[in-house]
Amino acid sequence: MHGSDDAQVIIVGGGPAGASTAVALARAGVDTCLLDRARFPRDKPCAEYLSPQASRVLEAMGTLASVEAAGGARLAGMRVRAPDGAELHGEFAAQHGFPGFRDRGIALRRRVLDEILVRAAGASGARLREGVRVTGLARDSRGRVTGVVTLDPDGRRGVRRAALVIGADGLRSIVARQLGVARRAWWPRRLALVTHFRGVHGMGNCGEMHVGHHGYCGLASVGGGETNVAVVVPHAVARDAAGDAAGFLDRWIAGTPHLAARFAGAVRTSPVRATGPFASAVRRAWAPGAALVGDAAGFLDPFTGEGIHAALRGGELLAPFAAEAARAGGARADRALAGYERARRTEFAGKWRVERLVAAAVSFPPLMNRAAHVLGRRKDLADLLVGVAGDFVPPGELLRPRFLLRFLVP
Ligand SMILES: Cc1cc2nc3c(=O)[nH]c(=O)nc-3n(C[C@H](O)[C@H](O)[C@H](O)COP(=O)(O)OP(=O)(O)OC[C@H]3O[C@@H](n4cnc5c(N)ncnc54)[C@H](O)[C@@H]3O)c2cc1C
Repeated sequence: MHGSDDAQVIIVGGGPAGASTAVALARAGVDTCLLDRARFPRDKPCAEYLSPQASRVLEAMGTLASVEAAGGARLAGMRVRAPDGAELHGEFAAQHGFPGFRDRGIALRRRVLDEILVRAAGASGARLREGVRVTGLARDSRGRVTGVVTLDPDGRRGVRRAALVIGADGLRSIVARQLGVARRAWWPRRLALVTHFRGVHGMGNCGEMHVGHHGYCGLASVGGGETNVAVVVPHAVARDAAGDAAGFLDRWIAGTPHLAARFAGAVRTSPVRATGPFASAVRRAWAPGAALVGDAAGFLDPFTGEGIHAALRGGELLAPFAAEAARAGGARADRALAGYERARRTEFAGKWRVERLVAAAVSFPPLMNRAAHVLGRRKDLADLLVGVAGDFVPPGELLRPRFLLRFLVP
């Protein structure tokens, strides 16, 4: 039915993970089809900050110049305010001896960033099909995935076939669920409300995280005088957000006095988008005939939220294994995908440990207060933490006794 869209590899989802994978596969000469239910440009609820190391992958994709010229803001580091008011400030350009690919992060609207990336995938030779929703997986008699079931914009249903299907379809990935590898994560169960304001006072060149007793708020300039505002609250607290997300967000800011003053006179410039709960995981990121990348392969929490870097890097990492799997088929394909799983764990395991430690601190105000007091006095350690969050300092630097003992010894 969709003969022209059968391919060696079908990628479901054209966000950062799908676009990055598509660019690398198409360049390697693999016949690739990229499907997205949305039409670009499209919005995605996100704090819209890219770590300095994300620029390395953007450069490899050939998109860095376009992203840097797209009118976003540059972030020099992060400021974190604990519930008791203690603050830490870390910068990407620091003396720890681990230089980033860039010494600034980029903050840019996702509707702009993702369109640049998905068009780059098309320019690399992948066939991009927008407005096509994947509703299921096609399998052979032994259960191996052989394609996807699709719903086209004109209402036509069909099956598109491929030697390999890649699920890059984000949180609540239909590919992960149908493969039977998705695990529901019970902690942390949080919900996010994301929007943009113009006229927020005191925005500098750092991203900001304000942690309270009932959630946290991220602020970052995203260029053009706009500030991205992301309020993340425990699921239980967010119940009364249902039906009135904008009212909930306004009340949350008004109830946080040091922020309320900065929003005096500020004007909201985009709808409030709610998303969550987002914590999710997979038992493994592949099954015969299929692989997962980006949020589809798991996400913890936006606080350390370098999900865009993980998605871009994940695609770069997956591509050679996916090319091998698509060409080889059968048991050799499975071995290639098992190799991807090992590579993924080697690449991300350290960062996952740090993310869990930070998520625990954010959930437990005394721990967050203590961390902010220690790191507020030790700029060198705050720089190290921000460098790990920025994806260019090895996470092992934070897991060393030298660093961890600081929190125990007053
Ligand atoms: C509140 C919040 C704030 C965040 N802030 C940051 C931040 O500041 N910095 C950062 O690096 N990360 C942040 N993240 C994480 C980041 O947004 C994600 O990690 C990143 O978008 C993952 O990219 P992806 O390509 O895997 O998925 P996505 O960007 O979600 O893309 C998935 C694509 O798949 C498509 N799709 C889904 N289902 C189907 C289907 N059935 N058929 C066809 N297409 C489908 C969607 O339309 C979409 O285009 C944040 C996350 C949240 C929730």
